[in-house]
Amino acid sequence: MTRTTYLDHNATTPLRPEAAAAMAEALAMTGNPSSVHRFGRDARRQIEAAREAVAALAGARPEGVIFTSGGTEANNLALAGTARRRILVSAGEHDSVLDAVPGAVRVPLTGEGLVEPAALDARLGESDAPALVSIMLANNETGAIQPVAELARVARARGALVHCDAVQAAGKLPLDLAALGVDLISLSAHKLGGPKGIGALYLKRGVKIEPLVHGGPHEHNLRAGTESVAGIVGFAAAVAVAGMSAQSSAELLDLREELFQGLRVRIPDVQRNGDLEYCLPGTLNVSFSGCQGETLLAALDLGGICVSTGAACSSGSTAPSHVLKSRGLPKSQVEGSIRFSLGWGTNRQEIEGADPLFKRVAPEGDPTLQGDPLGGPTDNSPEAI
Ligand code: PLP
Repeated sequence: MTRTTYLDHNATTPLRPEAAAAMAEALAMTGNPSSVHRFGRDARRQIEAAREAVAALAGARPEGVIFTSGGTEANNLALAGTARRRILVSAGEHDSVLDAVPGAVRVPLTGEGLVEPAALDARLGESDAPALVSIMLANNETGAIQPVAELARVARARGALVHCDAVQAAGKLPLDLAALGVDLISLSAHKLGGPKGIGALYLKRGVKIEPLVHGGPHEHNLRAGTESVAGIVGFAAAVAVAGMSAQSSAELLDLREELFQGLRVRIPDVQRNGDLEYCLPGTLNVSFSGCQGETLLAALDLGGICVSTGAACSSGSTAPSHVLKSRGLPKSQVEGSIRFSLGWGTNRQEIEGADPLFKRVAPEGDPTLQGDPLGGPTDNSPEAI
């Protein structure tokens, strides 16, 4: 049987055993946290303890944590909830931001995938209307880390509120609401070892939002519906482990570089899509010229290596990556991109084991990589795809 190597941690990272154990206990509890009897009170206690743990991850107040169904809902709640009609987002945001506010002003990315404070300032200066700015801390496709603290300073000086999608950064980078200087932060449990279907929005003291989901006073009147007690408890358990014993950045960086060197030996014209310095330690986005990312993904999957194309973080989409496109990369580089994402549990044996497969998928000098394996023309122009 083919051994499977999971290198798609940015899509979702495996459930931590600590989270699974905590959830199993919580699932065995009967009470609705809104019930006043003892079972209800037990469930409520679990939720409030979890709220404190999740708040601590970003140095936030527990009262400022609103549990949601995940990062997507947290982003939607932040963007709709502040009732600011003028919204600016970076061109590389996740679809849960871009699609939530299709009319938002898009601040461009540099060739390195970063937002320049001057570019944000210029867009903010185009109107006096109160604005909301939404910038992610780390990009899901490329791992690019935005200078959020600096961007937030620029935005605040213009009187804007700032939302930060920290879904990919949490558990991988230091996260501090005050140091970032932002007003709202989105999180998702399954990106840091918790279960899927649970997330949170942090609100800085004094930030007022309106709910998206109506029907009860849950979550400080900001998100109606019976809470997912097991999900919330699993989220908190994962946060505790991610904060304490996350595989060190240095180890992940080493493994990522070993992976890249292995690729480079097998496929000399592989191109790296990302800045080395401002990048999540476990993310490697690369392009293979004259080759479709989807074709490589399928070949790697057959060989037991699970990765994503740059764009397919959600819903198995095969659309070309808007993140790479917005950086002005040539069409062939965008279409030939693959994202490897390493995380907790990734080990050297897996990375070394992947090496022979790269040789099989793309033997040096193999004509299948010199042309488009799908038979289409190779186009290196930076035109829109
Ligand atoms: N934001 C970013 C940067 C993400 O990578 C994702 C997940 O892919 C989300 C938001 C959405 O999170 P969830 O899957 O919890 O809805």
